[in-house]
Amino acid sequence: MKRAVYVRLSRIWRAVRGSWVRTSLCQHARAQRVRLAHATRPVRAALRYLSAVLLPSACALCGTSSRELLCVPCAGCLDDPRVRCARCALPWAAPSACERVGPDLLCGRCIARTPAYDATICVADYAEPVDALVVALKFHGRLELAGLLGTTLATRTLQSGAALPDLVIPIPLSAARLCTRGYNQAHEIARTFARALDRPCCARCITRVRDTPAQSGLRGAARWRNMRRAFRVTRTQRVRGAHIGLVDDVMTSGATLDAAALALKRAGAARVTVFVVLRTPTP
Ligand SMILES: [Zn+2]
Ligand SMILES: [Zn+2]
Repeated sequence: MKRAVYVRLSRIWRAVRGSWVRTSLCQHARAQRVRLAHATRPVRAALRYLSAVLLPSACALCGTSSRELLCVPCAGCLDDPRVRCARCALPWAAPSACERVGPDLLCGRCIARTPAYDATICVADYAEPVDALVVALKFHGRLELAGLLGTTLATRTLQSGAALPDLVIPIPLSAARLCTRGYNQAHEIARTFARALDRPCCARCITRVRDTPAQSGLRGAARWRNMRRAFRVTRTQRVRGAHIGLVDDVMTSGATLDAAALALKRAGAARVTVFVVLRTPTP
């Protein structure tokens, strides 16, 4: 009897001690990583500068020689000051009518079916030639474009005067698609976007509950059916009462963002603003 008690106590002690050692090792490794990142920052900045000066580089859109990711004319293509629906960012066919009524005018789609998100900010329409930037980031691994797109989205947000979110959340990929692609392009954009606005970014606050077929292969109502209850909020305490900024690369029908916004609102989010790089003008 005594021996059984001793064995049980020693097992409990080993479990407690093991978890303490794991936690300390984890904290130690994290501190080491932060120190290393801090110490190598000047070296990394110098290498970045030298590579920009010495190595040839081309504009990501037109391919002409350029020190920046985009040459000056191509960067101008991202400057798209069209008047848009305040809720879903669809461009107005007759902007003068909107100017008479006011900037908060909603389009017919949003009046007929009010989305769960409260507002949308986008950089430009999903059209040539800028759509090639998202295609290159998403399907050809051009991850450096995420920094450019995230910063441009942050600049457009500040120019619009819209309320800044308390927390930035990228639209998650399903585990299967994340394994295939190796990265989530929305997360890459959201990281730079959040850093530029000095806001926290959390990629683990919301997850995909089921592996839905790709939205690009579906049309109209099938997109909405496909996304029904596709998301679950996993960190409710961070979301409750907060203004959430949902980030994605492209908004087409808005079904994915609507489903994620609905899950966030059900978890207690006070407001959800969608931030997308490109908006399909005729979904
Ligand atoms: Zn160019
Ligand atoms: Zn609208």
